[in-house]
Amino acid sequence: MNRLTRAAACLLCLDCAGEVAPRLTPADSVAIRQIVAGVDDSTLANPDPADWLQHGRSRDEQRHSPLRQIDTTNVGRLRVAWSYDLGAYERMEATPIVVGGVMYSTGSWNVVHAVDATSGRRVWSYDPQVPRRVGAASCCGSVNRGVAVYRGRVFVGTLDGRLIALDAGTGALRWEVQTTDSSAMYSITGAPRVGRGLVFIGNGGAEFGVRGYVSAYDADTGALRWRTYTVPGDPASGFESPAMRAAARTWNGQWWKFGGGGTVWDAIVVDESAERVYVGTGNGSPWLRSVRSPGGGDNLYLASILALDAATGEQLWYYQTVPGDTWDYTATQPMVLVEGGMGGTRRQLVMQAPKNGFFYVLDRLTGVLVKASQIAPVTWAHGIDSVTGRPVENEANALSTVPVAIRPSPTGAHNWHPVAWSPATGLMYFTVTNDVQVTVVDTAWRHDPRHVNRGVLLGPTGDPENSLGELEAATVELVAWDPIRGAPAWRVRHDGASGAGVLSVAGGLVFAGRVPRRLAAYRASDGALLWEQDTGAGVQAGPVTYSVNGVQYVAVLAGNGVPSSQFAGGAAPTGYRGRARIVAFALDARGPEVPQRDVPPHRRPDIAPDEFAGVTAAILRQGNMLYDKYCMRCHGPAVASPGPAPDLRFSSVSVRRQFGQIVRDGALSERGMPSFAGHLSDADLLNLQAYIVARARLEMR
Ligand code: CA
Repeated sequence: MNRLTRAAACLLCLDCAGEVAPRLTPADSVAIRQIVAGVDDSTLANPDPADWLQHGRSRDEQRHSPLRQIDTTNVGRLRVAWSYDLGAYERMEATPIVVGGVMYSTGSWNVVHAVDATSGRRVWSYDPQVPRRVGAASCCGSVNRGVAVYRGRVFVGTLDGRLIALDAGTGALRWEVQTTDSSAMYSITGAPRVGRGLVFIGNGGAEFGVRGYVSAYDADTGALRWRTYTVPGDPASGFESPAMRAAARTWNGQWWKFGGGGTVWDAIVVDESAERVYVGTGNGSPWLRSVRSPGGGDNLYLASILALDAATGEQLWYYQTVPGDTWDYTATQPMVLVEGGMGGTRRQLVMQAPKNGFFYVLDRLTGVLVKASQIAPVTWAHGIDSVTGRPVENEANALSTVPVAIRPSPTGAHNWHPVAWSPATGLMYFTVTNDVQVTVVDTAWRHDPRHVNRGVLLGPTGDPENSLGELEAATVELVAWDPIRGAPAWRVRHDGASGAGVLSVAGGLVFAGRVPRRLAAYRASDGALLWEQDTGAGVQAGPVTYSVNGVQYVAVLAGNGVPSSQFAGGAAPTGYRGRARIVAFALDARGPEVPQRDVPPHRRPDIAPDEFAGVTAAILRQGNMLYDKYCMRCHGPAVASPGPAPDLRFSSVSVRRQFGQIVRDGALSERGMPSFAGHLSDADLLNLQAYIVARARLEMR
């Protein structure tokens, strides 16, 4: 029996009757653990196509599967095989890992689920009990992009900064370490990567004044092996490395007091053959360079791709996509390793579509730019100088106290959403968001490590008195990008404004989420839509494919939540809520249909007739500005929250009577609502409430 059928057989003996979680026999646990114990450096380098062994499937993170049972001729027969309720109403970003017929994924709040990949039945789950108050330290909800499996263990990073190793067979805790300073607002949303006996993990928090770094831990013991910072600290404390000493020369003022940023919150790619890891770094803290580093400077290594020695963490080269970033243009986005013929010779390449609107092809041995091409409308730069590799900034659109329209928005032309490369077509597939953000320098900004530090105010784009007028709503497209020509081979418009992850399969297909709530399959060569199906909730995560007992499956996580256009003033989300779930499809499958949308009971706002009646337009504008600055990040644009933070239009009169205690004094801080003491005056609180009530009144009509 090969290891796949062994796993499937072992799962078939589970007692799955009823709704309760199946009983896992000790023999099952041993079998599963043994299979995952076989996941080592050699299997990761040469993964069985039946599995989805690592975040991007293969070491090069191409998200391309050699499986070809599902192809362009039969994809129309894909049906739901099973779905697994993740017990949450939140956006899902995780890529599941599949090994020997068992799927491992995170849901919300870092709960790890091990699921029978043929039936969706739970094998085990593990709740790391993340305290809800840390949700306020995450830029974008209690999201997570998945686990790693290696040497019999399942690894997950948590929102409160822990790295956890679980027994793959039982979900029992094997070790956990705190990878961050708990007194600072660090968080982890990225998936760990593994190799060479190590677990690599980064962190986020650049909006909250942290200093970015990436760490490597011993996979067996959890001992810290190395840690590499991405931005320099206080020079008076000495530099950790020559790279930090060099970086400090590109900063001015006392940047270390603001943390600096440059967090490694998503992409980490292990290049086993070169004994390296590549990491992408995030934006500066605060966003606005003129207060972070007065007098300018490149502020290395913000918004950069770094090549590190996998054994020591020593920096081998860097490429900075946005010197002196001031727009939240992170370079943490997914990276793909490709061996390709660029410039007449075979070269080892790394490719990335970061937030800033360009697509980069670098020589991954040297870090030298091979080609940069523009994927979306860009106002911050005229282009990338192919000789120096530096952007040519558009000084005419620089940030100031006069609002300017910035493209791409801080959400990015392309964000964390997984990308796929097809070796057959030589194209990179990813979603591109065309969005704009009205931005103005926040003259009242002062550093507060408990709150978001931008140094700029965003929007509101919908304000008719905005000097820039009405700006068009964001649009999103799935594109097939030809990196050699630097142009799209095809592009397909999607509904909504949120990006989605992509999967390429050898059957000539690419799968991608279509917002709202659909998974779709396109012909890889020309973008023809060949299949789509309702998933019950929005799909932004990366789909995967795997095979068990001769059946090929395609699976993806679905979930609704604060859309990634949260920073923009785009259309308010609808009241639709779909339960988060994993949905798996197979040809001619006969699983139960995905439960259709949960339509929330019709709610009417609870507003007293005289409550904030007759307030002036000036008060509403001030309240709108404060809302966008402090509240929108969690409660959604235009006071319409798709969750998980409450929709404030439906707060009760009695809750509003406690507005000051909740918003200023932190009465609900244990539940994740931070205190805004020192930020909001009594007048601010009244203006904010007036705006919220005015938005709620619109729901009474
Ligand atoms: Ca950011």
